[in-house]
Amino acid sequence: MNGGRVCADTVGRGCFTLKPETDFNRRGLNRDGTIRRTLLCKSCQAEAQREWEQDNPDRVKEIKTRTYRKHREAVLARERAYREAHRDEINAARRARRDEINARRCRRYAERVERERPRAA
Ligand SMILES: [Zn+2]
Repeated sequence: MNGGRVCADTVGRGCFTLKPETDFNRRGLNRDGTIRRTLLCKSCQAEAQREWEQDNPDRVKEIKTRTYRKHREAVLARERAYREAHRDEINAARRARRDEINARRCRRYAERVERERPRAA
């Protein structure tokens, strides 16, 4: 495989599989202007990221808060655009949830009425 590389980092993580460069995430540029990439392939990198997030919940929260504050307007605009583009879908999901809750309430009510009905002597 031309330009391929084995997935492995300096602390023994990785799948040790020979993969094409494009299976590694981009990570800025090298001094010579070529694309710099991560040591771990995309799927191993994602797994390492998940593990780090599990081990560092406080840092994750801090970073998320900071990022939200920094990009608040962009985040809100994206959410607004999503809601507009998926309005029908969102309404259908809400309706389904509401119907389900109502059906459960009706069942509970019917059960209660049945339970509290005075028995014939
Ligand atoms: Zn890998």
